[in-house]
Amino acid sequence: MFSLLDIAAKRAELSPDKTALEELVSGARISYRELDRRACRFAAALRGLGLAEGERIAILSHNRAAFFEILFACAKARVVLVPLNWRQTVAELAPLLDDCRPRLLLHDAPCAALAEALGQARPGLSLLAVEEEGTGPRPGSYQALRDKAEERRDWDPVWPAEGLWYLLYTSGTTGRPKAVMQTFGMAHANFVNLASAIDLTAGDVTPNYLPLFHTAGINLHSLPTLIAGGTVKVLPGFDAERFLDLIESGGVTALLAVPAIYHALAALPRFAAADLSKVRSWSSGGAPLPATISALYAARGVTLCPGYGMTETGPTTFLTRPEEALCKPGSVGRPLLMTQCRIVGPDGRDLPPGEAGELLLRGANVTPGYWNRPDATAETIDRAGWLRSGDIARADAEGFVFIVDRIKDMYISGGENVYPAEVEAALLGHPEVAEVAVVGIADERWGEVGRAYVVPRPGGSPDEAGLRAWCRERLAGYKVPKSVVLVEALPRTPAGKVQKHLLRARGTEPAR
Ligand code: ATP
Ligand code: MG
Repeated sequence: MFSLLDIAAKRAELSPDKTALEELVSGARISYRELDRRACRFAAALRGLGLAEGERIAILSHNRAAFFEILFACAKARVVLVPLNWRQTVAELAPLLDDCRPRLLLHDAPCAALAEALGQARPGLSLLAVEEEGTGPRPGSYQALRDKAEERRDWDPVWPAEGLWYLLYTSGTTGRPKAVMQTFGMAHANFVNLASAIDLTAGDVTPNYLPLFHTAGINLHSLPTLIAGGTVKVLPGFDAERFLDLIESGGVTALLAVPAIYHALAALPRFAAADLSKVRSWSSGGAPLPATISALYAARGVTLCPGYGMTETGPTTFLTRPEEALCKPGSVGRPLLMTQCRIVGPDGRDLPPGEAGELLLRGANVTPGYWNRPDATAETIDRAGWLRSGDIARADAEGFVFIVDRIKDMYISGGENVYPAEVEAALLGHPEVAEVAVVGIADERWGEVGRAYVVPRPGGSPDEAGLRAWCRERLAGYKVPKSVVLVEALPRTPAGKVQKHLLRARGTEPAR
């Protein structure tokens, strides 16, 4: 089934001189015409290397404009791109290479040593260095290979909905890592969902700073911005001071961040007087947005709009508009244009409004499945196309959805279900608490009990008894964490999410 037309070629035709990508570090600006030329050349180079349709190439790269040329080249040549997590070790990455078997591994300069080690471990794998923009291409580099290739334009411009574009590995915390297949159809549906939620247009400039091996780095908002004909500003990563500079200078028009990033910005002393008026859209996703963070932005006249998505859903599935965020606090909204949802009980039957159950999702934004893993695909997606999210949610009578927690983070204490997100929300209201994560740990008497890991606010020194008393005033007794551990920071993924499995693993240590 027909989905997108070749985006790079189409944009080169419609807005050739417009800046598609701008790198903040090098200052390089790449027009849509140039983006398409580069992608045409690298697609030809891939064929020259003998890569056939459906074969894979992998990449280890920090945020770089070149990533998007490579992504579009892969689309043209129908080669499948596999972005890998550069924070992982050879021991972690080698099994992924065995799973997706790429012929070529591209890497930027900081990842050279890691790529070398992987090349030695996998003799059939060729390496190709991606140079910094603006440096003369070294012989044998990606740029040299690209620039000497012919600018072929005979690529099929029709990108079919089911065509595989790239693979994204999940963190694999619950077992063997799985690669989520990402199709052209998912990119199209993500664009429709996101663009309809925030009215994305060619006038938008959005930052690219979340990691490129994560769906957020590719799809929030970068790929949709390029489809819309806007400009993507490529940052080397997240730095709170520089990010606030960008917001104040009007360098970007729309933002999407995980709550941890909004928290880090609000923690800057200059936040209280910062000019936030030039960014028109403020979205949040990836983790629950604490009311305390929304309140900090509301006090500055900014409405943070919660949304929800998964790697498996392209990702944008829910995203509130400011008026919805205001009248339905805590909700992620109703499913966007391309997506349907259901909330079901353990027996698979639909639950009435108000009752919490598993969130199921279906639509053109949903993955066809996991690479090489028909077993995991069959467990996750049923025959009618409903994907099990692994998240618990409830809806109100108007269909607004509230994410309760992950099924695997829920724990059972004395026979009662406890959703850590609810306990965390209560603790975040405490004036001396900056960040918190609650996990269930084994307990002889209750089966499981909660343990709260708390990062105090600067200057604050909350104590265990005080925090437990605070919870007792606000929560049923079985929800009150049995122990509290003060920590300097919570372990987080590169996308800013708390790694609860690491905290659970610490659960056997005595609380301090
Ligand atoms: P993995 O599947 O590898 O364990 P992950 O599920 O964190 O990692 P993602 O696909 O990036 O990987 O994240 C999707 C998950 O993030 C959702 O299933 C949900 O648990 C969580 N999430 C996303 N948005 C929200 C939100 N607004 N509120 C609460 N949780 C959210
Ligand atoms: Mg997941």
